[in-house]
Parts: sequence; C-alpha cells; structure tokens
Amino acid sequence: MKQFILREYPDKNGDISLGGKDFHYLVRVRRMRKGDVFDCRLPSGEAAVLRVTAVEKNTLAAKCTLVKEVYTQTSPAIILFQSMVKGAKMDLIVRQAGETGVTEIVPFYSGHSVPRDGKNPDVGRLGRWLRILDEARKQSGSAIVSNISAPRSREQLFSYWEQMRSLHEESLALLVHEIPLANMGFHQYLETVPELVVLAVGPEGGFSPDEAGDFVKAGFKPVTLGSTILRAESAALYSTAVVRTLIFERQTWTVTKI
Ligand code: SAH
Repeated sequence: MKQFILREYPDKNGDISLGGKDFHYLVRVRRMRKGDVFDCRLPSGEAAVLRVTAVEKNTLAAKCTLVKEVYTQTSPAIILFQSMVKGAKMDLIVRQAGETGVTEIVPFYSGHSVPRDGKNPDVGRLGRWLRILDEARKQSGSAIVSNISAPRSREQLFSYWEQMRSLHEESLALLVHEIPLANMGFHQYLETVPELVVLAVGPEGGFSPDEAGDFVKAGFKPVTLGSTILRAESAALYSTAVVRTLIFERQTWTVTKI
C-alpha cells in the first residue's frame, strides 16, 4: 500500500476521524474495517501506524501511534523478525510474543515460508493478530503495547532493519539459527545491554544458507539454542525468554573469559 499521508494531526490522545476522500479510499477501496492497522505519515512526514477503531456511515475513526514511540516504551525493546509459518502456529507466536512483552513482531516471507508471499489473500490476518495481542496484553498485564505489521518481503524486511539501525546506534540483531555459525552465545552478545534487540527466527523449513548469509551480511550475529531442533514457535518463545531474562537479571551475572 502506498504511504497514506494524513492531512491533519490526530488529537492529543492520538485519535483521528477521517471522512471524504480519505474515507472513500480507506473503506471503499482498501476495505479497511475495525481492528485493521496500516502505516501512514503525519503531515510532518513522521512515520506512524493507524489502527481503525470504528467505521461509521461517512467517517472512519482511528488511533495513531508514532513508529518512534513504539521503541521507547521500554529499554531495550525486543523486536521479533518472524518468518511466516502456517496460520495457527503464527497466531501462537504472536500470542506468546504479546505475553512476553515483545515490542514489535515483524512477520516476513523467507524462502521456506508457507504460505508464500501473496499466495494467502487472508487480509484479515493482521486484524486477527492485533486482537490476539490485545487479548494477550489484557491477560498478562504487560505494560508494553506490542505492535505487529503486515508480512513484509525479505527486501522490505532488510530495508526496515536498516531504518531501525539508523535510528538506534546501540542495536543488537541476532540470527536464531540451528546451525552454529559462531562460537558466541547470548551472554557474550548481551554483556553490554543494547538499546534494541532484534531476533530473527526462521520458518518450519529453516533459513536457507544464503538467507542466513544475508542476515549475517546485514549485521545479524548468529546464535544457537543448542543441538536440538526446535519448532519455530518454540524457538521464538525460547530466544525471547533468554534475552528478556539475561537483560532483566543483568546485575546478577558476568562473562568469564574461558
Ligand atoms: N531447519 C530445521 C528446522 C528449522 S526450525 C529443519 O528443517 O528441521 C525453525 C526455526 O527455529 C529455525 O529457522 C531457527 O530460527 C529456529 N531454531 C530451531 N532450532 C534451533 C536451535 N537449536 N538453535 C537456534 N535456532 C533454532
């Protein structure tokens, strides 16, 4: 979807009501409905996310969140780059990420993803994931409002990563890969707590060697969870839990040079 530019600013609570041409485009053309989310730009050009809160006869009401605000809710923010996996498994990954206070889930299509890019017309997926995140947050009481976006292609993912990297000097990106590609682990990587931690987890069939290479070239550090092969949904929860625990308990451990 081309960048939707707002003609006016939301109010101080982030609420905005859209009518006229905007209403026609969003509701009649893009068939937006309550719960759907889309990227937009404020009149100032700042990146934001609009979540539809109501669609009336001639107006669409939405809640606006600045993208940069998403990352400052907690430090460090944990962002999960999750390769698309089959429906219910993706819902489980989203729910568990919501419960564990992942700041943003960024679904993307990798070579072994099922469904493949564009083959799954289920546009309501994003609305469903947002409802799952709302329920998970209510149930867990997490203070973090986890965000999620529509699945990106690999190219879009890497340009999103470059954008994040430019916004956050101290960002640590970890490629969660079952083949040990380096002899460093979570403790060494987290000895200095970064501002932002990005975890990339593959699909059922895993990352292909050239995909793993692309992540490493883009600055991702490879990390393994041990010799057993976990399902993607287990690896997403496991790696998030390790990062959150090591950071939460940072004062209780040191890395000894062996
Ligand atoms: N390639 C394997 C499975 C991939 S499992 C196979 O074909 O059976 C799906 C994803 O979970 C992987 O892409 C990786 O991101 C993660 N994963 C699974 N086991 C892992 C481990 N022991 N260490 C690190 N990541 C793991």
